[in-house]
Amino acid sequence: MRVSVTFRIVTGLVILTLSTMLIACSLNLAPNLSRLQMEDRARYCEALAVSSSLFLTQRNSEALQDYLAAVVKHNPDISSAVLRKQDGEVFLHAGPTVNLTDADLASKFNQVRIELREQNLPWGQLEIYYPIQHGSLQSLWYRPMTRYIVFVVGCCFLLFALFLRKTLQSLNPSRVIPGRVQEALDTLAGGLLILDTKEQIVLANKTIARALRTTPEQLQGQPVGKLPWMIQSETEDESENILPWTRVLTDGETHKGITLSLESNTTVADCFVVSCAPVQDDEGRSRGVLVSFEDVTELEKKKSELRKMLQALHESREEIQQKNQELEYLATRDPLTSCLNRRSFYEQMETLWAEAKEQGTPLGCVLLDIDHFKSINDNHGHSTGDLVLKGIGATLMELVTAPGVLCRYGGEEFCILLPGHDIDQTAQVAEEYRRAVERLEFEELKVTSSFGATAVSLGAENAQDLLDEADKCLYAAKRGGRNQVSRWDLVPRDMDFSEPVAREPAPVGQTPDSQGSEAQEPAISSEAALRLGQTMDGLGQMIDRQDFDGLADLADEVHTLAKEQNLPEVAAAAGQLRDAATTMDVVEVIYLTNQLMEQCREYQSQHIETVAD
Ligand code: GH3
Ligand code: MG
Ligand code: MG
Repeated sequence: MRVSVTFRIVTGLVILTLSTMLIACSLNLAPNLSRLQMEDRARYCEALAVSSSLFLTQRNSEALQDYLAAVVKHNPDISSAVLRKQDGEVFLHAGPTVNLTDADLASKFNQVRIELREQNLPWGQLEIYYPIQHGSLQSLWYRPMTRYIVFVVGCCFLLFALFLRKTLQSLNPSRVIPGRVQEALDTLAGGLLILDTKEQIVLANKTIARALRTTPEQLQGQPVGKLPWMIQSETEDESENILPWTRVLTDGETHKGITLSLESNTTVADCFVVSCAPVQDDEGRSRGVLVSFEDVTELEKKKSELRKMLQALHESREEIQQKNQELEYLATRDPLTSCLNRRSFYEQMETLWAEAKEQGTPLGCVLLDIDHFKSINDNHGHSTGDLVLKGIGATLMELVTAPGVLCRYGGEEFCILLPGHDIDQTAQVAEEYRRAVERLEFEELKVTSSFGATAVSLGAENAQDLLDEADKCLYAAKRGGRNQVSRWDLVPRDMDFSEPVAREPAPVGQTPDSQGSEAQEPAISSEAALRLGQTMDGLGQMIDRQDFDGLADLADEVHTLAKEQNLPEVAAAAGQLRDAATTMDVVEVIYLTNQLMEQCREYQSQHIETVAD
């Protein structure tokens, strides 16, 4: 059985106290308790004798008998009281000693005898018998010295134990750590705490004290739980939410890599990665916990900033993706009428032509030209001309449903592709369009248009042939008096198409009339804005994949594009990003990407707003 240190010290102290007392006794420095007892008994017996004499004088032997009986009864020290006459005869007695022989009496009792006198003549004696308890525990207990020693030992034991417990608690435990060891612990880069089984700090090194903005001395003796620790755990597991030293004291296991933070009023809490190991004695019993701390506050600060930047990047990217969709739409559309522009029309036409050829399905083509449009411009102004173009475009968009394809082919010309339509169906649809245009009214202004209609089945070799046929039909319709549909199979083969009817479409928005327009020009083209947006989205993907080479290439692409488009600040930011991507500085890369995205977003927004106006 293991005896605690406190108990051993207390026992030692009690033995020392006892020895001192015994030495004092043997040197007669302590009061002689036996003698005091004897004197006490003598005085008591004398008092008894005086009382007995009084009773005898009054000849009241009954009262005397009662009195002696009461004395014996109430005084456990006294075994018997005998009143013996001068001739030896027992006059009165109380207690059991009266019939014993003298030898027995001497061996079993201490006697006190006091002579009684009557009218100055000896009458007899009062004998008081005190029992001698040889060797028995009871007799030992009745000795005053025994009781005194037992009392002193008991009290000392209790008081010393209390005193030592208090003293040992407030004793600075670091004093038992040699100075060099403490210095070595202080030089550790990591923080160190040693806790006792009550989770009180027994020892703290300077690193942890510095991190907690205090001193090792102030930490000592404090309960570690007094600090506002918070466990950075993402699990729902209850056991994960118990402070690690408490877990060590409960399960006796080592726990590593737990992230704790200290609640604080400042924006960034102190953050530590903590490992705890049990401190055990030789017999494997828990004596405390060794806690090591790695201060990761700075790291956590950086991580938190990085998280914020990534969040901003994510939001930027989503916005850019949405703007890209708008730009994609704008890049494929004619800004005035919102019909497909010529570039994307050609792309679609190639596909439809290839499908029709491969599958042998019909494909119709209609070309529309507004009649006397120049005079509308001339007589009513360019803006009215624009209004007419928009109105006809909107009407056609309603009529041309998928899979039909409608585009603004040139100045006041529209082209419609009609998959699944042979020449008859195409001509019929063209006639419907003609009537629809005819029905339109623009502030009391009526317009008509001429149509050329052809279909793949009439022998066109390629897509361009088909468009040429439609163009020739249109010429024929104009020649035929306008506001009519002319079909390719009905156009006389000997017609001279070189007669002066303008057929080459004027480029959209670049007509002499439109130059006077007040419309604001966007800083970059829809295609450039879209290309910028797509590269921005690509940059986001590269960061997600942590592909720094790809990122550097894309940044270089943006750099070139921005220079071409005369956007010097975007070019500069892209150049910086390319360099940062080469050095693989993650934080810098994310920061610069955010900046670049912001600039591009501005250009995109400005572009979309301008074009939408
Ligand atoms: P025709 O009946 O023979 O087709 O006569 P036209 O006047 O329509 O033919 P012409 O090709 O001589 O005139 C086309 C005009 O369309 C010339 C040009 O100023 C005008 N135009 C082209 N694009 C636009 C535009 O975007 N807006 C406006 N308002 N006018 C445009
Ligand atoms: Mg024309
Ligand atoms: Mg015209």
